[in-house]
Amino acid sequence: MIDVTRPIAELARAVQSGELTARQLVEACLAAIETKSSYHAVLELNAAALGQADAVDTRIVAGESVGVLAGVPFIAKDNFLTLGGHTTAASHILKPFEAPYQSTAIAKLEAAGAIMVAKANMDAFGHGSSTENSDFGPTKNPVDPTMVPGGSSGGPAAAVALGLCSFAVATDTGGSIRQPASFSGVVGLKPTYGLVSRYGVVAMASSTDTIGPLTRSVADAALVLDVMSGQDPADATTIERQAEPYTTTWRSGKAKIGLIKEYLGEGIDPEVKAATLAAVARFRAAGLDVEEVSLPSLDLALACYYIIVPAEISSNLSRYDGIKYGYSAPEAKTLAETYDLTRSQGFGAEAKRRILIGTYVLSSGYYDAYYKKAQAVRTLLIQDFTKAFETYGVLIGPTSPITAFPLGQKAHDPLAMYLADLCTVAVSLVGAPAISIPSGHTKAGLPIGLQLIAAQQDERRLLAAADAAEALLQDRVVA
Ligand code: GLN
Repeated sequence: MIDVTRPIAELARAVQSGELTARQLVEACLAAIETKSSYHAVLELNAAALGQADAVDTRIVAGESVGVLAGVPFIAKDNFLTLGGHTTAASHILKPFEAPYQSTAIAKLEAAGAIMVAKANMDAFGHGSSTENSDFGPTKNPVDPTMVPGGSSGGPAAAVALGLCSFAVATDTGGSIRQPASFSGVVGLKPTYGLVSRYGVVAMASSTDTIGPLTRSVADAALVLDVMSGQDPADATTIERQAEPYTTTWRSGKAKIGLIKEYLGEGIDPEVKAATLAAVARFRAAGLDVEEVSLPSLDLALACYYIIVPAEISSNLSRYDGIKYGYSAPEAKTLAETYDLTRSQGFGAEAKRRILIGTYVLSSGYYDAYYKKAQAVRTLLIQDFTKAFETYGVLIGPTSPITAFPLGQKAHDPLAMYLADLCTVAVSLVGAPAISIPSGHTKAGLPIGLQLIAAQQDERRLLAAADAAEALLQDRVVA
């Protein structure tokens, strides 16, 4: 039996040494995807995957050097532009779209020898917290298929948890890697804004869009980040990565951990709170210094996010006009009808809602009251985090106020859905890195996630802390 859930470094070594072939790994993933198709984690297979695997195997037999991810199979969220198939962002409006070029992140993974086996389901354009906003039907929770897997990267999170691939890559604009990781019982890393190139990734909100991995361990996440990160001439917002690999162990003098007080208050499920406090007790018993810290502006973060992000969405979605990309209403007779019918038929309810909110908060007369005020609140949040990081190396709290909820429960209540982002959006607005690791489970067996946050570009400290936390919480994790 080929086990694709082994640590990534181990899999790559096994392929390099000839113990396993890349083809065997890809075939194992394709078989698992088929057996577990009822979860609807995958939207499309990569028809070129087996050919790419054979190419890696041929190079190994020829004694040529292959990268650190040699033959390791992964799945990409369907908002990464990939060659040779469709890129839909799970929206009807992009259903026929075939990308003319490849995203930088995927190109880097492939250059390191990794093989994309499939594209994963998501909330259309990344709008949502449950993957129920996919225009192609929801993904089911890998632990309990009557529940949602979280979102918007529910497909990638479920794919990793179900063992359909070794790791997945996704986007996080307000929590879309961390929150589904928490709901599905895997690790999800959102790096510092700009650390991984957004070139060739379908834009949601350009000032908070980030790219990161979903994995089965912190070590795996560090390895994938190491491959994907770095400046890209094609994305002017990218920053220089740290010279040291993200995979090496790292020690720091400033070990104090801040437990975010606001993330344990109103709206937090008692079982989530209990798991967070139990993790803190473990850390303290292991000799770590954990203190409660207050970030007073956090209460404003959700409102701030749901003004700034729709504003950016309304601008980014204006490019889908029935002319440049994807679907175009066939019955339209005039240019105005092309715009009108394509957009009304092609966009789902949530995309339309966000276009309306975004256009409203940017319109003359409301701009000062909403958008400008939200930007001022964003500055307050940045100040709160900056201040906290003067004392604490890492901040912790729950990843999500709740655990996975039943499919359909919040599908028609956008405000209730937005509340699922309570603990993730502030970090996105601030541009800091954060990671969700499994911290236990509810009595009903549903996964709970712990979020660790570090200052911008402090990924090495974040990963070292998460790695230590993961070890301390090991036996709390659902098998
Ligand atoms: N759930 C959040 C939203 O709907 C986050 C989405 C994301 O990070 N892509 O905006």
